[in-house]
Amino acid sequence: MDFHGKTALITGGSRGIGKAVCLELAQKGANIVLCYSGREDAAQETASACRALGVQAIAVQCDVSDAKQVQNLIDTALEQFHSLDILVNNAGITKDNLIIRMSEDDFDDVISTNLKGAFLCIKTAARVMMRQRYGRIINISSVVGLRGNAGQANYAASKAGIIGLTKSLAKELASRGITVNVIAPGFTQTDMTAGLPEGIKNDLLRSIPAGRFGTSEEIAKAAAFLASEDAAYITGQVLSVDGGMAM
Ligand code: NAP
Repeated sequence: MDFHGKTALITGGSRGIGKAVCLELAQKGANIVLCYSGREDAAQETASACRALGVQAIAVQCDVSDAKQVQNLIDTALEQFHSLDILVNNAGITKDNLIIRMSEDDFDDVISTNLKGAFLCIKTAARVMMRQRYGRIINISSVVGLRGNAGQANYAASKAGIIGLTKSLAKELASRGITVNVIAPGFTQTDMTAGLPEGIKNDLLRSIPAGRFGTSEEIAKAAAFLASEDAAYITGQVLSVDGGMAM
């Protein structure tokens, strides 16, 4: 896989899975634009780690649920690199609660960041990719979007929504040389999952045929494959990277 001359935009690239995707694509030669929400220190650290791999990389603050900020993000990427070849919609949050205790704000916030954020980034990037007649869009869903999870109705709805969004856009954009696919990670060790109680982690572990949690690097390798020339004829698909959880 060789991404030299390509520009990759990764939302939520400051930490966790997004950071691993930045490093994997940078290691294979892509110039990197990563966006983050509030953790500028982590974002600059990731950009600097990418540059240490010999590519150009910038970190841009952007709330993906805000259309103006997303437009600014894409404009900045184009000013810097003049093309946009790979978009990884990875930014995501959780605000868990049982449905009777879940506030309307917590439902809206999760849908806005996880689902509307991906919509806005794709809508803005697609104009550029259609002109280029080339693009790779990878949307990060979750095993929870496939199977549901008690206490995560908002998150599961956002992640199931990502799958419908992907399949529709795959149909719209295929003739322009643009593929749109989903990666559905299982339980992956990041800040998002670090705070879960040990009891829940042990229950989860028992439900994973592979018998272990996944790593961000394992998700990143799947993203690199879907971004590569080898995946040119794959679109509208959901690739589970979950140790067998969602069979
Ligand atoms: P994480 O460690 O909590 O990192 C989340 C990233 O998203 C950070 O870079 C954060 O930026 C960014 N972000 C959050 N809200 C944003 C917003 N409104 N605008 C722009 N960026 C925003 O999460 P993770 O575990 O790596 O998860 C990454 C993706 O994988 C998410 O979509 C998540 O739902 C999905 N996923 C994770 C797992 C898992 O087990 N970890 C499993 C399945 C799916 P800051 O650093 O600035 O806060």
